[in-house]
Amino acid sequence: MAEMPENLPQPVRGFGTTFFTMFRKASTEQYPDEKVPTQPRFHGRHQLNRHPDGLEKCVGCELCAWACPADAIFVEGADNEAGERHSPGERYGAVYQINYLRCILCGLCIEACPTRALTMTNEYELADHTRESLIYTKEDLLAPLQGGMAMPPHSMVDGMSERDYYSGKVTSATPEQFAEVEARELAEEKAAEAKTDATIEAEKVASDIAKDEEQDLGGAA
Ligand code: SF4
Ligand code: SF4
Repeated sequence: MAEMPENLPQPVRGFGTTFFTMFRKASTEQYPDEKVPTQPRFHGRHQLNRHPDGLEKCVGCELCAWACPADAIFVEGADNEAGERHSPGERYGAVYQINYLRCILCGLCIEACPTRALTMTNEYELADHTRESLIYTKEDLLAPLQGGMAMPPHSMVDGMSERDYYSGKVTSATPEQFAEVEARELAEEKAAEAKTDATIEAEKVASDIAKDEEQDLGGAA
């Protein structure tokens, strides 16, 4: 912008600044109609990452929660069980919550994470109408499955150790892992169907009993 000459009286210089500003290009951002991309390293909403075969990187160590100055993270670790593996190694994050009413997006938690399980995205739209909706759970924070990943729980890649996962030797889920997940989902579907059938039968019996009782009462009157 053009500089006002020093020798002009102060009021003239002031109005001159206002006058010239009227012709400057407006820098107003039309949010939310137009969203301006953030800087690539902007610290926004967190994400819990996965290994290339879909297993979770979080080992439930709670270091992120201890590092957080705002006490915004709650983690509860649990042991992986045979056939119910969520991460390579011994433990996984069974419960994971971040309270965005407390979080100041400082990034200390992601620095503390030893497995790079926790990172931050560029997403900054973190407003809502209720307190509950601003407590993000593990399901909200987990990265979606990418191509080549199988939904945990499932086994580790055959012949690979936990260390191999961190050395980048695992590049995608194997056919055996996909087959395992498919078999589990099929078994869950069947169990749900069996449960539904049992519930329908139980409801039918209860309804018959209620009808019989009504008839008995009607006869007695
Ligand atoms: S970004 Fe900072 S305030 Fe937010 S959860 Fe991480 S450590 Fe806590
Ligand atoms: S996100 Fe990282 S630091 Fe936090 S519990 Fe999981 S592995 Fe540990």
